[in-house]
Amino acid sequence: MSSNIRIEKRCLQCGKIFTAKTTVTKYCGADCSKRGYKARKRAEKIKLTEVEAKQTIQQPITELQAKEFLSIEEVCKLLGVSRTTIWRMTKSGQIQTANFGRRKLISKKSISELFVFPLEEEQSNEVDITFDIDECYYINEILSLYQISEKALYDLIKRFKIPKIKVGKFVYVPKEKIDSLLK
Ligand SMILES: [Zn+2]
Repeated sequence: MSSNIRIEKRCLQCGKIFTAKTTVTKYCGADCSKRGYKARKRAEKIKLTEVEAKQTIQQPITELQAKEFLSIEEVCKLLGVSRTTIWRMTKSGQIQTANFGRRKLISKKSISELFVFPLEEEQSNEVDITFDIDECYYINEILSLYQISEKALYDLIKRFKIPKIKVGKFVYVPKEKIDSLLK
């Protein structure tokens, strides 16, 4: 229904005074209307993240330990590390995430795998070689470089008795051995 109403209004987005044709018009035109919509959506998203973070803070740690899949906030709380650290680790592929709608989830298993590497059984390889870390790949580096699965890689390491060393959370293997097998 078109009306003859003419109201002076201030655009909620750009602040310009414009003549509105209805009492509910908030924006001076389509552009501001679009920008306003986006800003509202952004605010909603931020609010959602804040709510999730708040819920996580109040959540008892035992509840987190029992969960199979965790949000980034929950992983931060569980491990006591910052959000930035977790983001960096998901970006570098050290931690795998899956997107469920607008939520990113991390499987507990992928976290545990950071701590448990199948090292013990192979320590009998008795490697005496000295490791020069600069001449080594770490596991995830090989996975992305040669596009093979973690399982396939560990099978290779085992089969060809490739020496490896664990430094912190990372397992390193000599570049030379890997390159000669996979190149
Ligand atoms: Zn405007």
